[in-house]
Amino acid sequence: MYYSYIVIITNGVFQVTPRDQVEKRVAEFLEICRRQGVKATHQRTEILRELAGSEEHPDAETILARVRQRIPAISVDTIYRTLRLLEDKGVIARVGSMRDRTRYDANTDRHHHFLCTECGMIGDFYSDAMDRLPVPREVSEMGIVKGVYVELRGTCRKCKQKTANTDEGRTGAKP
Ligand SMILES: [Zn+2]
Ligand SMILES: [Zn+2]
Repeated sequence: MYYSYIVIITNGVFQVTPRDQVEKRVAEFLEICRRQGVKATHQRTEILRELAGSEEHPDAETILARVRQRIPAISVDTIYRTLRLLEDKGVIARVGSMRDRTRYDANTDRHHHFLCTECGMIGDFYSDAMDRLPVPREVSEMGIVKGVYVELRGTCRKCKQKTANTDEGRTGAKP
């Protein structure tokens, strides 16, 4: 069987999600709100739009800073409450288990993550093989598995480059 997977490494460059993808995610949220009687306020929609437009899996403070460029009066509290609401509705997900801040993801398509343990960069990738990973029996004994999510950890291209440059510098400085 042939399969392949793509690793999207953002390389620290701000990556923008295609506009139709962003609007698709916003439309899904509006539909959920309509069905469940939740108010899709302007602020909530803008917070989701900001998150959906980023591939960086930003944390709450980054989202706040960006949304504030458009809605200066938005409060920290609104950001946190909205992120919780979006998470409860399954529109976004929490990402990562790094010791630092919680990051958020509006990509609801099934995917996995590559995480750089040095700079915290999180890249999405898609893999049929990983989607279909067999569940070990001992896990089945612990409970019912509803999904498989893989987080690969390593050093991103940018950080690797940085290290390589530093090493070169050191070597060069040697007498
Ligand atoms: Zn990195
Ligand atoms: Zn993701």
